[in-house]
This record gives sequence, structure tokens and C-alpha cells, in this order.
Amino acid sequence: MRFSLQDLSKVRVGILGGGQLGWMMVLEGRKYPLKFYVMDSPEAPACRVADKCFKPDEYKEMVDSVDVVTFEFEHVYEEALRYAHEKGKLLPSIESVELKRQRWKERVFYKEHGIPTPRFFIAYDAEEVYRTAKNEFNYKCVIKQSTGGYDGKGQFFIKSKNDLDSSIDTIKKISDVFVVEEFVEFDYEASIIAVRTFDGMLKTYPPTYNRNEKGILVYNYGPINNTYISMKMVEIAKRLADSLNYVGVMGIEFFVRGDEVLVNEFAPRVHNTGHYTLDAAFTSQFENHIRALLGLEIGETKLLSCGGMVNILGLANPPLEVLRYGKLYWYGKNEARKRRKMGHVNIVGETLEDVKNKVGKVMELLYPNGLDL
Ligand code: ADP
Repeated sequence: MRFSLQDLSKVRVGILGGGQLGWMMVLEGRKYPLKFYVMDSPEAPACRVADKCFKPDEYKEMVDSVDVVTFEFEHVYEEALRYAHEKGKLLPSIESVELKRQRWKERVFYKEHGIPTPRFFIAYDAEEVYRTAKNEFNYKCVIKQSTGGYDGKGQFFIKSKNDLDSSIDTIKKISDVFVVEEFVEFDYEASIIAVRTFDGMLKTYPPTYNRNEKGILVYNYGPINNTYISMKMVEIAKRLADSLNYVGVMGIEFFVRGDEVLVNEFAPRVHNTGHYTLDAAFTSQFENHIRALLGLEIGETKLLSCGGMVNILGLANPPLEVLRYGKLYWYGKNEARKRRKMGHVNIVGETLEDVKNKVGKVMELLYPNGLDL
């Protein structure tokens, strides 16, 4: 599906999911004469800025009334995703969504495509989980449920026999396939945002250092100042996106251990670690995603400055002193719950050191008593 420039004002882009990612997609897409139809409840952030909002049970109507369907969250809307795929409107394609439905499939895909990932085994029940953890990892491992896993849900971090013994009863109650993988003693976590066109052209944003806490991104900043590591990430992004014949933006998360770059997971959509591109890059990840979906030329991904981002988690009323150090993006969600992403602060700076310092200041302002996730 490609559009000429003259056609743009007639083009309707459908977005499944009305959270902050959809909200930023719409806001960035507003630079073009496009229409945005969003599927979620009316008070969802992206619905508030959309041209039209559809309830989840109206998915057929929504898909039928747009030219292209994308999504901001791959773990729900199964029927809508499938329907959009059947209608030939879904981008990125259903293949990438399906890899995310089952964590073990994603890991196997990496292995089959020569993409480095933590050493792992698949286990079909709690007994097998126990045996694998004991025999293959001498207990030190991470056990991950295959389905429904995001933001650190369904994960067990095991360091000792004791940990395993106290988790195994919970694991027994879960009927799912598990991935048992090595507990990576990484130096740091990182990610890269890539955008790929219909023609197979790929551009990447400079990778960032990421800080996750209890499975949730707290802040990130970049670019990573190690060319060798960054080049490896670009190579991996190319291999992954090419092997999926991917169209749009994807985020890939890594563990970096010495010179080793291991893929933890990828997200077939715009990504939280790419929010900094709104201010530090010439073209944001959100704009580039839309450009890629429509078959338009994708924009420059080079950075204009170093950049970073701090998530505002679970706070209804963050101190506005954060504006001293950055730019506030407030999603306008109706209720602040623990761990919920309410907004973020984007930060730019001449040097990485400068950005890091500002990230530290914003963290102190937002979480004076430390983070409670
Ligand atoms: P989700 O898919 O729920 O977002 P991830 O698999 O990305 O969860 O894991 C969330 C976080 O947990 C990671 O960012 C990392 O900090 C930690 N983690 C996950 N797997 C491992 C591992 N094998 N070794 C060490 N830490 C891990």
C-alpha cells in the first residue's frame, strides 16, 4: 500500500490501541494531512486526539473504514489484528505479532536466524522447568511464561535453589510453555530503534543505554559511546527486520556483556526507548513509522544532540520543576496507578554526561524517596 503525496489528505490511518504510543503517533502524524482512527475507550490518550474513536467491539467497522492498520500494543486485539491482516491492511505484518504471542517462538526465531540471544531451553511443565533450572543452569536462571508477558509479568528471577523452591508452586499453577534462560550478568541494557520500508531500506537511530526496574523502563539516554557495540546492534536490527520483511518501526532490547550483544526481545512497534527521538532526532520514531507505513520516504534518523528520557511512573501530580531539565509529555490518563506510565520527560544535551546529569536531576525530583514499583 503506497500513496502519492496528493492522496495523503484522503488517507485514513487506523491505530489499534489508544495509549501513549498511539497518542504520539497521532500527534506526530498531524504534520501531514492524514486522518487518524483509533480503537480504544473514548478517554484513552490517543482517542482524545483522534479524528474518530472506535470501541474494541467495533473493530470490523474500524478496519473497513481505514486504508492501513497499525498498532501500539501487540498483546491484545487478537481478532482485530487478524481481521486487519485478512483485509491486507496490517502493518507491521501479522508474522511479527505472532512471534510476540509466544515467547518461546521468538527465542527459537532468533536461534534459527543466527541472532544472538541468552542461552535458553523450552519447558512444557513445572517439573521440566525445575529440572532444566537445576541441571542446565545450576539454579541461576530466569523463568519466563510464554504468553501474556510484558512489563516484567510472568517472570521468575532465580538465583538459588531456595528461590526455585519458593517459586515452583506458583509455576505449577500456570498452564503455559516456559522459557528457562540464563541469568545474564549484563554490564548494561540497551536498545535500538529501527525503521524499514517496503523496499527493504533500513535506518536506525543511535542505540541508547536503558535502565529497567522490575521489568519496566525507568529511563534511557544515548547515544551509546561504543562504535563496535552499536555496529553489532545495527547488524542485528538489519538481520531481524529483513528476515521478517518488516515494514515500520521496531524496537530491539539488548543485554550487553563485555563485547557480547544479546537480544532480549523486540517489539513490533514504536518503543518507549525511542521517545527521546521526538526531541533529539531530526525525525521522530513516530513520524518515521507513519512514513514507512504509507510508503513515503523515511526521514533522517541522525541525532541533533545527545538525548534521553525519564518515565513518569504512577504519579498523578509530578513536580513541574522537571521543566528545568527537559520537556514534559503528559498523556492525560484518567487515573494514576502504581507502575502506570503517566507521562515522560525528554532531555537533550550537548554531551552524554550532560544528559546523564539531567536524567539524575529529574529522577530525584520525580522519585525523592526512590522508586517504588
Ligand atoms: P517483558 O517482556 O515483560 O518486558 P523482558 O523479557 O523484557 O520482560 O524482561 C524485563 C527485564 O527483566 C529486562 O529488561 C531485564 O532487566 C530483566 N531480565 C529479563 N531477562 C533477563 C535475563 N535473562 N537475565 C537478566 N535479566 C533479565
